[in-house]
Amino acid sequence: MPTYQYECKDCGSSWEEFHKVAEREAPLKVPCRLCFGEIKLIPQIPSMISMRDGWQRHTSDGWKDRLKEIKKNNPGSTIDV
Ligand SMILES: [Zn+2]
Repeated sequence: MPTYQYECKDCGSSWEEFHKVAEREAPLKVPCRLCFGEIKLIPQIPSMISMRDGWQRHTSDGWKDRLKEIKKNNPGSTIDV
């Protein structure tokens, strides 16, 4: 079961709860337990996946250039570019 993060719009307190995907908005119908304010669901970004995608898509070329530069400055290095 995925974990969802909730935050109170009024007092800003946040917490995590386990819910089935279909029931992830159920806690939104219940007011904040501290101030009875409105609850919102914090969108969860699967950080590992987005980091890996971003790394490959946005930095691989730059990274290769950087390696070439390091190799140029260190003629004896064993970096294979
Ligand atoms: Zn609150």
